[in-house]
Amino acid sequence: MNTQAIIARDDANVLHTYGRSPIALVEGRGMYARDAEGREYLDFTSGIGVNALGFCHPAWVAAVSAQAGRLQHTSNLYYTEPCGALAEELCRRTGLDAVFFGNSGAEANEGAIKAARKYSVDTYGPGRSKVLTLVNSFHGRTLATLTATGQEVFHRDFGPFPEQFAYVPAGDLAALREAAGGPDTCALLLELVQGEGGVVALEKAYVEQVAAFCRQRDILLLVDEVQTGVGRTGTFLACEQYGLQPDIVTLAKGLGGGLPIGAVLMTRKVAQHMGPGSHGSTFGGNPVACAGALAVLGELTDDRLAKDNALAAALRAGLQTLPHVQAVTGLGLMVGVAFADGVSAAAVRTACERQGLLVLTAKTRLRLLPPLILTQEDVDKALAILRSVLESL
Ligand SMILES: *Cc1c(COP(=O)(O)O)cnc(C)c1O
Repeated sequence: MNTQAIIARDDANVLHTYGRSPIALVEGRGMYARDAEGREYLDFTSGIGVNALGFCHPAWVAAVSAQAGRLQHTSNLYYTEPCGALAEELCRRTGLDAVFFGNSGAEANEGAIKAARKYSVDTYGPGRSKVLTLVNSFHGRTLATLTATGQEVFHRDFGPFPEQFAYVPAGDLAALREAAGGPDTCALLLELVQGEGGVVALEKAYVEQVAAFCRQRDILLLVDEVQTGVGRTGTFLACEQYGLQPDIVTLAKGLGGGLPIGAVLMTRKVAQHMGPGSHGSTFGGNPVACAGALAVLGELTDDRLAKDNALAAALRAGLQTLPHVQAVTGLGLMVGVAFADGVSAAAVRTACERQGLLVLTAKTRLRLLPPLILTQEDVDKALAILRSVLESL
């Protein structure tokens, strides 16, 4: 099938909820994908931060195929090896104590909100159920996580919404003190680098003050690392760079290396309240998804992360030298580019696609989320294409 036929069939039968580029990808290897006409694209999107090891990494393919051929699913009524092995490795790398597995970022955040409310109701009784989030945040598309998302544009047309959510502007400690003034707040949920909100990193000093404030009041600190986690920002969790020890961390995107998986990691203090029947998910902890995630963690060694930090620095330095670039934001290989001179990020993205480079946008910015297996050669090539695109605008 050619691109035109693939697009026409999709348009006829798939819900039109996405603004797609007119590209039909049929195969990929490492940093490159190929479309139906055989054109190659250097991928600086990793499927929105998902393909941490690029396309079809041999270790990931081997782990997933072996598990698919051995035991693909059992339900959570039985034990399987990959689920426990992955939970053990995640606890080891994060210092947290227990994990619940689901299938997506939104589902992980739902689990985090439930665990926070359960802890609060068991510890303080009912009525202390308010969850604070930040203005400009993004936490998912289910009704509760949509409500948690601090952007009006996502809320339009979908109410009524679950109660007891409120928003505070990032960087404004006084607003947080005020919003959490009553006795009814149980948790604060935040992203350390707001991804969909435009790749905006929070200030370290603000985050430290927030953590101290929450600790004082026993307001649980929930960090949404769905996009920032699993090495994306240069450390396994972005929390490490902020010196944070949260009560709950959520992961998803990069964890499965391309298969759907989400995780809610928590301290023993919170975990002990989530007993049998308190939460569940049919596909959660699926052995094939867990085997894939274990392969991802196996490749993301300290050595690999050190390389990624050097490459992130080179990419950021290179971007600063390009025409029309006003600012380079984010952390590690989660990169935002703000343009001056009225240059539109969407126009840059389209022009890059024509020259064989896949990139993303977030709000008015260009967003780069390359696979964590990239090399200096890939950085140089992406910068060369971006330079040629920006020089022609
Ligand atoms: C992508 C994202 C989500 C939602 O994840 P899904 O897997 O699409 O449900 C939640 N939080 C953050 C920070 C994200 O980037």
